[in-house]
Amino acid sequence: MTQSSLYATYARANLEFEKGEGAWLTTRDERRFLDFAAGIAVNSLGHAHPHLVEALKDQADKLWHVSNLYDIPGQHKLAERLCAATFADKVFFTNSGAEAVECAVKTARRYQYDKGAPERFTILTFEGAFHGRTLATIAAGGQAKYLEGFGPKAPGFESLPALDIELVKQSINETTAGILLEPIQGEGGIREIEPSFLKALRNLCDETDILLILDEVQTGVGRTGRLFAYEEAGITPDIMAIAKGIGGGFPMGACLATEEVADGMVPGTHGSTYGGNPLAMAVGNAVLDVVLEEGFLDNVAKTGLVLKQSLAGLKDAYPDFIEEIRGRGLLLGLKLKMPPADLVAELRKEGLLTVGAGDNVLRLAPPLTIGQEEIDFALQALERALDTMRAAKADSQ
Ligand SMILES: *Cc1c(COP(=O)(O)O)cnc(C)c1O
Repeated sequence: MTQSSLYATYARANLEFEKGEGAWLTTRDERRFLDFAAGIAVNSLGHAHPHLVEALKDQADKLWHVSNLYDIPGQHKLAERLCAATFADKVFFTNSGAEAVECAVKTARRYQYDKGAPERFTILTFEGAFHGRTLATIAAGGQAKYLEGFGPKAPGFESLPALDIELVKQSINETTAGILLEPIQGEGGIREIEPSFLKALRNLCDETDILLILDEVQTGVGRTGRLFAYEEAGITPDIMAIAKGIGGGFPMGACLATEEVADGMVPGTHGSTYGGNPLAMAVGNAVLDVVLEEGFLDNVAKTGLVLKQSLAGLKDAYPDFIEEIRGRGLLLGLKLKMPPADLVAELRKEGLLTVGAGDNVLRLAPPLTIGQEEIDFALQALERALDTMRAAKADSQ
């Protein structure tokens, strides 16, 4: 790598991609890679999906940006469609996941304030959570490695050390505004939250008049084989943050809420210069066109099952490396017996792109449009990479 003028915040792989098509990426020197990272669960419809390309080009020819000083028809359309497909009645558009979570936290606090309980501003979160990298969302995530060196942790967040309903009960007090969690912890290591735990949280929130806030930035928009992961548990949240998949690669996010809860967000309480801009709305609507097509989500669920079963076979063949297969739909994780970095690098040599996560997990989040060909390629790459690592391990012993 040459000397760089960029912040050194990322340990980037030495790869430059020039174009993408479906689940495949090509470098400048014409090497092809199968993309099972999908820009960290973002490219939900793969690369250069014709419907998305067309929507973006059409909009680019007409109008890019006007700000929220004016009505943006694409916002109304996308918000109505999101509300029709979910628990929500109201939507605020953002440019990223962290901003969607920030809006969710503000909405929860404002709801309590509006109800005459301004002292209720604390959000309970869970160990292993990830909610973004702004000052508030690193406080929400509660992870020391992200908080270190950035001054005092923003107040109003309490991270609970276990997914334990008794502990949650004990932790709710007169300052609690809501509970925030991911239905499947993504960065934390594809840790699925039991549906029974989500149900218990829902009941607890109802009993204590605090809000259930879901962060579906990674799990949302079809990733788990349902439009949103909360559907699996048969509950609905009061507020939900989404991003990643809804833009299919265009930076955007949204905060969804029930009418009652969003009521406090009156003119002047929140804003974003870019949020919901015409380009983003064109792409978001185009993503929904495809994801809401009949059979699309069923297909994601089916493909996810096939991939997960194949991975279970891989676990049986490589028990010296793989402990467990985790996740749902096309958000899957291989819990390894070591940190995932070496396997990620080895897989890259085999032409497969993956991404690590916490808890020694190798994360697979391919485009939702993959088929058997891609599954076969990925498995063969995994087998070859694990064989190489096994041989290297034998040599060193
Ligand atoms: C990626 C992610 C975020 C942050 O999204 P950004 O767009 O990077 O700000 C928040 N929550 C979850 C669950 C995520 O996976």
